[in-house]
Amino acid sequence: MLCVASDITALSQDGRSLRQTRDQALRAAHTDDLTGISNRAHMLQQAGALIAQGQPLVLVLLDLDHFKGINDRFGHPAGDEVLRDFARQLQASTRRDDGCGRIGGEEFMMLLPGTDLPQARAVVQRLLEHVRAARPLAEAPAQGNTTSAGLALHRAGECTGALYRRADQALYRAKQAGRDRLVCDGAPA
Ligand code: GH3
Ligand code: MG
Ligand code: MG
Repeated sequence: MLCVASDITALSQDGRSLRQTRDQALRAAHTDDLTGISNRAHMLQQAGALIAQGQPLVLVLLDLDHFKGINDRFGHPAGDEVLRDFARQLQASTRRDDGCGRIGGEEFMMLLPGTDLPQARAVVQRLLEHVRAARPLAEAPAQGNTTSAGLALHRAGECTGALYRRADQALYRAKQAGRDRLVCDGAPA
């Protein structure tokens, strides 16, 4: 009997390194460079997946208030630090199954599956309180900042875009009503 043995160590190492490269590329494609949390594309993908699962879902849009003023007064790197600090607080306020990400500029999103509006409201209210109390700039220890938020509860049959638009309209109403507050779609400001 002829036995042929070959050393596949190198092959399996190649396979492992290919998988690692693929995983790194996937992580990079899902991640916001500045804050290290999910980016817009990943959040929208997650929203679509959660909607497809059919469980209750609240989509929250958050926008830092008067953020341009931070850049203008303290410079762009300080503005970046405020964004990173906000992202940390956002992450700290989410549970394992929740999602959070930066969807652009000083705008962020939370996805709260298995949650109704009163529960989501409590989560976001706590986050807004933490943001209000934070002093993220070492070089300006008196400088605080605030955030406005819009919440919308998914309706049966609704697509991601329509849910997003209702949260965005609620956010707009929060800004109009004076900022540093949350507004739920369908409820008074
Ligand atoms: P409002 O309360 O109405 O939301 O006012 P605002 O000043 O927060 O909003 P506005 O849209 O006028 O300004 C947003 C600013 O965010 C302008 C832009 O320069 C800044 N910005 C966007 N992306 C970044 C970023 O990555 N880093 C920094 N430092 N600033 C950014
Ligand atoms: Mg904005
Ligand atoms: Mg803003």
